[in-house]
Amino acid sequence: MTSIDEMPDTQRLKGKVAVVTGAASGIGLVIARLFARNGATVLLSDVNEAALLRELPSLGEGAHAQIVLDVASENSWAAAFDFAQLLFGRVDIVVNNAGIPAQTSIEDTSLEAWRRVTSINLDGTFLGCKYAIQYMKRSGGSIVNVSSIGALKASTIGPAYGAAKAGVWNLTKTVALYCARTGYDIRCNSLHPGLTHTPMMDQAPPATIARLQASIPVQRLGEPLDMAYAALYLASDESRYVTGTSLVVDGGYSL
Ligand code: NAD
Repeated sequence: MTSIDEMPDTQRLKGKVAVVTGAASGIGLVIARLFARNGATVLLSDVNEAALLRELPSLGEGAHAQIVLDVASENSWAAAFDFAQLLFGRVDIVVNNAGIPAQTSIEDTSLEAWRRVTSINLDGTFLGCKYAIQYMKRSGGSIVNVSSIGALKASTIGPAYGAAKAGVWNLTKTVALYCARTGYDIRCNSLHPGLTHTPMMDQAPPATIARLQASIPVQRLGEPLDMAYAALYLASDESRYVTGTSLVVDGGYSL
């Protein structure tokens, strides 16, 4: 796996403040590290406090901070933005990355399990967008919603996951259009990772992973850094004319 330390220090987010959710593990953690390496000050957020405390030093030098944020809780969002405002005086980037998988068929999915998956993956992104707009509408910013190729392709397992990620995809376009038409300088784009080697992926049965890997045209799983570079582009001013788009990063899997 390529390490961030081997990548050039390009400062593409110099002076910006970023809130990243689900940032104590996997894709979110590598996004946070890459943003920090590119000059952003990062508020690392997650429900897992122990992992946050463990991982914060890996962001390196800077005024980075961490906060416990359950994305499905509205109070939690309000507290996180108040904290960011108090600490940094601004927020320029919000990455709605927190998510949980679902591995059961529709017949084996309880309503309770459906609601849990949609509350974190979809409600959490809705709240993240709503609060991001509230806090960024005066100074502008970029919202990056981490969806999935599961939003674009059907699967025999995880109906709540696919439905929630498809909801994130459409929500992203709605937020992008709303902000542009309202005159807010806020862009909103969705990132659709393919199969990526993270702890979430490790929960899938090995036979499933092997079968899926063989089906990827470039013949390998994605690395979190592949997703983080896409998020970096969408978060930075390099994508200033890009809003409402869906960036698929999947090694050709969905072709
Ligand atoms: P991961 O399990 O490594 O990390 C997810 C993080 O989210 C964890 O730190 C977890 O504690 C946190 N989290 C869970 N519930 C939360 C909540 N209610 N509030 C705040 N944080 C919460 O997973 P990952 O693979 O890095 O996935 C990150 C995102 O990428 C998810 O949205 C996932 O759906 C998406 N994605 C992943 C893959 C993949 O193959 N790994 C593919 C497509 C999309």
